[in-house]
Amino acid sequence: MGLHLTAIGIDVGGTGIKGGAIELTTGERITSRHKVSTPEGGAPADIAREVGAMVAAIRVELVEAGTATAEVAAALPVGVTLPGVVRDGVMRTAANIDLSWIGTDARELLGAAVGAPCTVVNDADAAGVAEVAFGEVRGLPGVTMVLTFGTGIGSALVADGVLVPNFELGHLELDGFISIEKHTAAKVIEREGITLAEWAGRAARYIGYLEQVMNPDRFVIGGSISKNADQYLPFAGVTVPVVPAKLRNDAGIIGAAFLAAQG
Ligand code: BGC
Repeated sequence: MGLHLTAIGIDVGGTGIKGGAIELTTGERITSRHKVSTPEGGAPADIAREVGAMVAAIRVELVEAGTATAEVAAALPVGVTLPGVVRDGVMRTAANIDLSWIGTDARELLGAAVGAPCTVVNDADAAGVAEVAFGEVRGLPGVTMVLTFGTGIGSALVADGVLVPNFELGHLELDGFISIEKHTAAKVIEREGITLAEWAGRAARYIGYLEQVMNPDRFVIGGSISKNADQYLPFAGVTVPVVPAKLRNDAGIIGAAFLAAQG
């Protein structure tokens, strides 16, 4: 295998940290899927420690499988996602993670933790890039809006394969909600005890509104809700195609690795 086409991706969420090594010609994971719970509180130092340990374990797995020498494994690009706006490696917002991330130079912190240069990106941006590179809308031209419904709502805009980073459409003010994610994220199903059909009504309204003001060529629905798509699609009132994410839970890992390899 061409090791220069391999990278390590780590996806940091509010509840779990997931990671693996990805072969970038196919987008396939070539190690097991590593997963730990996000440390209580989600403070930068605690998350950095877990990310460092996970990257080390992934390198060990590659070496033990005979896929890479220790030297090659240590030199693989590493990409890490975080659930907030990331500009030039610095986190600028933190809606569902410890507030002390705001202003933290995540590239420096995580780079020190993994002992190698690190690419740090927004979680939805990573998922969006992965879906366009390897997923359901692979190779399609035009504008794809990827929306991830989980604890919050993440959004990624990819135009002709190029990511336009840091769209925060989960924080749109709509129907009296200052941050629409508080009303329409997948988590509200459990938090408010509503049915999937009720959630789908909210999602249809939100996505219909996004279509009206942004006019993308298609929407991709990612995040934890993507696995039940046959139970709620199509969304009433949305005219462009709405497809579930193909890569599901691995999209963030794959996108982080993909963006890291691009440097
Ligand atoms: C954050 C986004 C993130 C999304 C999903 C939102 O609250 O502002 O940056 O992508 O949650 O984790």
